[in-house]
Amino acid sequence: SKFVVGLTGGIGSGKTTVANLFAEEGVDLVDADVVAREVVAPNSQGLKAIIDHFGAEILTATGELDRAQLRQRVFSDEQQRQWLNQLLHPMIRQEMLSQVKNATSDYVIMVVPLLFENGLDRLVNRTLVVDISPELQISRTVKRDNVDATQVNNIINSQCSRSEKLARADDVIDNQGEISTLKQEVQALHQRYLQLSGNHDA
Ligand code: ATP
Repeated sequence: SKFVVGLTGGIGSGKTTVANLFAEEGVDLVDADVVAREVVAPNSQGLKAIIDHFGAEILTATGELDRAQLRQRVFSDEQQRQWLNQLLHPMIRQEMLSQVKNATSDYVIMVVPLLFENGLDRLVNRTLVVDISPELQISRTVKRDNVDATQVNNIINSQCSRSEKLARADDVIDNQGEISTLKQEVQALHQRYLQLSGNHDA
């Protein structure tokens, strides 16, 4: 089976930035956020099941899933939330594994924001955590999304803590410096992962 590195990190830590640097080295990416949208795309089994459960009112005027409404409907209803997670989590997991299987690079980077929180670290051979301080998480996210710091701080507190992520990581990439430094860190890890994937049974 293919060698898979699970890339994670808190909000605004730089997962996308790091993933794109690996892609520049020719590594195929599997992105959990992208897959989560694919499994509820128009005509998908996922969307059909959601319509059966919540009714067609869960669609926008153009026939797409109304994510804001869905979020609202599961926000304060633990049972509905569980129903939705039990539907989507296996579909997302299966689709990610199928994309890994179809990848052609020597190893694959799986980008999963909630890798540890959702137990997806069990699907990967190695975990890589993008690490920055909470202060930098807040300032970079506020700048990127034009949201307020309190909102970002609430999200940080809902995610697995910095120390727990660091304790569970096989590898850590420090993203508190310049992008040029980050690129060098990625290049070094890429060499390491090529080596590890070569030793890994194909
Ligand atoms: P999220 O989980 O919130 O989607 P993420 O972990 O994918 O975030 P990015 O979007 O890659 O994080 O980075 C967050 C913001 O910080 C972006 O605007 C990005 O351009 C910027 N950024 C990333 N790394 C650096 C860096 N080393 N120096 C300055 N800005 C950076």
